[in-house]
Amino acid sequence: MLKINTDLHTHTVASGHAYSTVDEMAKGAFTKGIKLIAVTDHGPQMPGGPHKYHFGNFSIVPDKLYGVRIIKGVEANILDEGTLDLDAEELARLEFVSAGIHRLTGHNLKNKNDYTAATIKAMENPYLDMITHPVQKEYPIDLEKVARAAAENNVILELNASSYSPKKDHTRGIKSESLRLLRLAKKYGFKLAVNSDAHFHDEIGEYSSLNFIFESEDFETGLIINRSQKNVINYLKKREKRLSELKKTV
Ligand SMILES: [Zn+2]
Ligand SMILES: [Zn+2]
Repeated sequence: MLKINTDLHTHTVASGHAYSTVDEMAKGAFTKGIKLIAVTDHGPQMPGGPHKYHFGNFSIVPDKLYGVRIIKGVEANILDEGTLDLDAEELARLEFVSAGIHRLTGHNLKNKNDYTAATIKAMENPYLDMITHPVQKEYPIDLEKVARAAAENNVILELNASSYSPKKDHTRGIKSESLRLLRLAKKYGFKLAVNSDAHFHDEIGEYSSLNFIFESEDFETGLIINRSQKNVINYLKKREKRLSELKKTV
């Protein structure tokens, strides 16, 4: 059985509706044998979410806690026309930028066309690494179009364990669409990430709700960018290089 020992989507108390500190998240990861986590608190437009200063001061957190590599990131909110709720200067300070569509964040996106167009526009942001929970009942998107844009813009699409968590009284995912992502990833060549979307430290690295994906005949370990710590570190190195070249051209 595949053991994924990294998690690129986790929330701390800073998100306003999550319940562990960075320190507790790192300890939780260590206890579970998870070697690397991205701390990706919600962007400022989330009710109860952190002020943008949270992200500006993130570098004071050590790169490693309890032997766990801590990647300083964000789960920004995708707003109208695909803008994000942190600007380029703020995003430039972070090591990993993800974004997703969330309710109560002030957007006026109303239908599948809007959700698809905003998601694709967000992917054109050079700082964006990953779209979180691209498959959700509440915000349906044209997966084929988004898949193509993911390949063109080198953006990761997420397989979100929390969307199928038995702990939630509803599941927000659509199994057939998440399975379709595997086939689209092979067709277009973008990468997927397997993440918990933990809002408490004991959820880090909990991927069993995605067993239907791991057991699918379309599943291949090679599609998963965070299949190992080494793979994530390689990705981050390439990212740094790409962004430093971008700075030179601006
Ligand atoms: Zn989210
Ligand atoms: Zn999240």
